[in-house]
Amino acid sequence: MHKQKQLLYSFDALEPYIDAKTMEIHFSKHHVGYINKLNDALKDHPDSASLELEDLLKNINSLDPSIKQAVINHGGGHHNHTLFWESMSPSPKDPSGKFLESLESKFGSLQEFKDKFVANAAGVFGSGWGYLVLDSDSNLELIKTSNQDSPLMLGKTPLLGVDVWEHAYYLKYQNKRPDYLDAFMKVLDLSVVEERFNKNY
Ligand code: MN
Repeated sequence: MHKQKQLLYSFDALEPYIDAKTMEIHFSKHHVGYINKLNDALKDHPDSASLELEDLLKNINSLDPSIKQAVINHGGGHHNHTLFWESMSPSPKDPSGKFLESLESKFGSLQEFKDKFVANAAGVFGSGWGYLVLDSDSNLELIKTSNQDSPLMLGKTPLLGVDVWEHAYYLKYQNKRPDYLDAFMKVLDLSVVEERFNKNY
């Protein structure tokens, strides 16, 4: 059974950038919904159910066709959201070392990376995610994904995703996605993203 990891901060810890009500509904309704539907899809498929979530998503094309779309939607949703909660912090830290150097060499500077990350996410059409990933050659890359598609299904390693479904921001920011993205950047902990980079680079 797939389970939700505990949140490392309280629902109101990211105020005023991400409001407590959005955090509560997003974490305990939306994310939990993905996990429940994933477990439901896997209940009669013990071979798939025994796989770690990352392996399920990496091997999405070898799954039984009767559960493949449910795993894309709900397994992807579970994985995306787990990374998302861990990427935010009430006391975010800057990146350093090899990760910072790689950001600077790919995007020009830390600030230019942040601007391009926001612009990429702002440009997602409809519901989806803006992602910083490592491609199969370990190059940093900004991509857009639709719905709950995971970069793992594309053979890429997700480092940082921002949820741009309206449920992530509509209560506080309504249609103003750019304002939400600016707020997200205030609570984004790039030291956490650096740990993921170091593990996969
Ligand atoms: Mn979401």
